[in-house]
Amino acid sequence: MAAIEKRSRQDWQELDKDHHLHPFTDHKALHEKRSRIITRAEGSYIFDADGNRILDGMSGLWCVNVGYGQQSLIDAATRQLQELPYYNNFFQCAHPPSIELASILQEISQPQFNRVFFAGSGSESNDTVVRMVRTYWDLMGQPQRHTIISRKNAYHGSTVAAASLGGMKPMHRQSGLPIPGIEHIDQPYWFGSDRSLSPDEFGLATARALEEKIREIGTDKVAAFIGEPVQGAGGVIIPPDTYWPEIQRICDEYGILLISDEVITGFGRLGEWFGADHFGTRPDLMPFAKGVTSGYLPLGGVLVGDRVADVMIEKGGEFFHGYTYSGHPAACAVAIANIRLIQEEGLVGRVKNDIGPYLQERWHKLGEHPLVGDTRMIGLMGALELVADKETLERFPEKRGAGTICRDMFLENGLVLRAVGDTMVCAPPLVLKPEEADELVDTAWKCLDLTAEALAP
Ligand SMILES: *Cc1c(COP(=O)(O)O)cnc(C)c1O
Repeated sequence: MAAIEKRSRQDWQELDKDHHLHPFTDHKALHEKRSRIITRAEGSYIFDADGNRILDGMSGLWCVNVGYGQQSLIDAATRQLQELPYYNNFFQCAHPPSIELASILQEISQPQFNRVFFAGSGSESNDTVVRMVRTYWDLMGQPQRHTIISRKNAYHGSTVAAASLGGMKPMHRQSGLPIPGIEHIDQPYWFGSDRSLSPDEFGLATARALEEKIREIGTDKVAAFIGEPVQGAGGVIIPPDTYWPEIQRICDEYGILLISDEVITGFGRLGEWFGADHFGTRPDLMPFAKGVTSGYLPLGGVLVGDRVADVMIEKGGEFFHGYTYSGHPAACAVAIANIRLIQEEGLVGRVKNDIGPYLQERWHKLGEHPLVGDTRMIGLMGALELVADKETLERFPEKRGAGTICRDMFLENGLVLRAVGDTMVCAPPLVLKPEEADELVDTAWKCLDLTAEALAP
């Protein structure tokens, strides 16, 4: 018997409405509208319950790096579920999939990374980061080094600690966050600034806000800085080239740990294995999730640099932290198959030298559209800014909901992109074919026309 019944779209929608509370959703608004039911997927496309074929320009939620329907990942999960569906890594136990994956992650990451701590998601990974950073400084005999500096509009997940590291105001407002000991500085969002500085000057200035913040808090009180190499959920904010080298300099100078949140940028998204490789930083900790399994099963973790791992191992004492599913065997088996597939198909190089530059060039052409004030893309991660006035780059009034109108237009025309305010963002699977890249951009242009019509006074 199949585990899941066959039902009509309407039946699914009614059951969904009656019993299912969705993440990041206005429940009242959804009840008036009903959900779109996605039933299957293949390659870079998803299919809804009405049989509509939709190009997934977001790789699910930035995670399906190898595309849908990859048999080697499916086989890896099946085999592992038969062999050993679950065992934990607590109490001095381990199993082959978690050990093998740990050693593979060490091979594909920078030389300071020789160890990994597993979690079940990106949020959990960042909770681990908070616990680990503070434990490290305790072990170093500097327990007053407690404060972690992050950035406004950052996204690091949705648990209490991860949302505190994040800089999303609406999330903080709803739940009395952030927790103590987390501070936020401005993000390196040049288009969103007054643009009085050149991008390079702006990159330096926003990086130096870290130095100012460290001095303000006290140079002996700051534990770490955390940032996404490219902010994803915040609107694909690609920092100017001057930004990350200056952040690295400041972290080195003040001796604080650098945490690169690689949950989106890991596993090939930017045309390198990790975002830090692209920007040339040398992080001490790298939380990851999403692309590690291409989303086929949930898995996260933290790559732990020698600076931190050596101290934890040498000084000893139990690290009172872990998850039932830390290093889940089936998820680890899928991650191994996923990384092997990325290697065999050369997907990282493909993003850097082939499909990445191809989509980038076509994407920037969208900048000629009257509704578009700016385009940017790095690897296969891009954004465009909707503007009311192409000359002055003035935005639409927020209440017009230009981004939402545009996003719905995309969906009606068979393309998933996401709206962050009036910033449209895109992150297609790394297996995207050239003709699919053409389809993405052609559909986007057509939908920008339709959006302009809908927004016309
Ligand atoms: C998605 C995301 C997270 C949270 O991951 P979950 O698996 O949803 O908990 C953390 N950091 C970044 C940069 C993300 O994009």
